[in-house]
Amino acid sequence: MQHLIEIHQAYSANHVAPYPLVISHGKGSYVYDFDGNAYLDLVAGIGVVNMGHSHPHLLAALNHQAQKIAILPRLFHNEPLAKLLQLSCNLTQMDQAIPMNSGAEAVETAIKVARKWAYVEKKVPDNQAEIIACSNSFHGRTITTLGLSANPLYQQYFGPLTPNFLTIPYNDAEALNSAITPHTAAFFVEPIQGEGGVILPSPGYLSACETICKKKNVLFIIDEIQTGIGRTGALLASQYEAIQADGVLLGKALGGGLLPISLFLAKKECLQVLRPGDHGSTFGGNPLAAAVAYETLMLLENQQLCTHAKKMGCYFLQQLNALKSPLVKEVRGKGLMIGIEINNEKIDTQTVFTALVKKGLLSINTRQKVIRLLPPLTINKEEVDHAIDILATVLTTRHS
Ligand SMILES: *Cc1c(COP(=O)(O)O)cnc(C)c1O
Repeated sequence: MQHLIEIHQAYSANHVAPYPLVISHGKGSYVYDFDGNAYLDLVAGIGVVNMGHSHPHLLAALNHQAQKIAILPRLFHNEPLAKLLQLSCNLTQMDQAIPMNSGAEAVETAIKVARKWAYVEKKVPDNQAEIIACSNSFHGRTITTLGLSANPLYQQYFGPLTPNFLTIPYNDAEALNSAITPHTAAFFVEPIQGEGGVILPSPGYLSACETICKKKNVLFIIDEIQTGIGRTGALLASQYEAIQADGVLLGKALGGGLLPISLFLAKKECLQVLRPGDHGSTFGGNPLAAAVAYETLMLLENQQLCTHAKKMGCYFLQQLNALKSPLVKEVRGKGLMIGIEINNEKIDTQTVFTALVKKGLLSINTRQKVIRLLPPLTINKEEVDHAIDILATVLTTRHS
């Protein structure tokens, strides 16, 4: 498949650097190259293919809806969207939602709502609303979400960024308390930092932030784009702390690994500031994506995938810890969101990543120090054992 790689090299912009492997198709937890070699896919579209590749129920929902009608603008109502809005609000205990397509768009939507809420409800003077986010966070790659994400690595050469975003250290509720001013509209936070290297805050952090936001009349918005849809063994990672946020963001796996769709779900008190015409999206809320997202949420509930993900995640972490590899600094995670922090003095993550691919395991090299694993939630024990065998070989042999 060298010729396909050459076409990419000639015609793709240089903003990505793919490993020279062309994937042809996928089934369950595996993807295949054109020679029929199988790879255990612990990338899953970067936390998107939670139900495994080519899930028959999801393909059926996609086909069924595609034959009825795929795209309708929000100028009219459609059935799949109505069902998705109701189900997603019920499951997340939110009142209303705005459907978008990508994660970054949902974050942008939440920023717009937070700002309008601040001006209309909180009477913040015009153009002075502030938003707080955490260092090392990730909320997207558009100019505005890039500014919110506060990662200098991604920001360089793309300024000027959107103003009035403040950055505070992650896992530091006191820092949030001191950063809030009378102009603060919202605090955005990931329950576990994914792109940041699978960083878990201390227990109680989220509920402490919730208390502070409530007390100071600041919207508390949880970015569950990566942690949501069962990834950590619960529908939302924030459910572990029984948080009542003002808004929740979903994306990535919401589309069942078949289509892009995202949601900003929130309480009525915050969304009621919107008026017709305030926001929109050509594809946002289209019946095709909505039908697949609805089926995805139903599958998650009916097949007890959260419980399964929790069980498999515990087993995976336990087996990883048992490797006791000198090349590994720390293993951490929750459910099937797993990070292996590599001991950079002994080996670099790219070497580990490449050795894993060669043995048939796909992983994500995160921030040059963490190998991140986001397996399909449908992964079974045999597949975890297979992954552990490969990881054991790569992490316990000498690489020179
Ligand atoms: C991936 C991600 C986003 C951005 O989603 P896109 O669909 O790539 O725009 C935002 N927030 C978090 C936490 C993410 O993991």
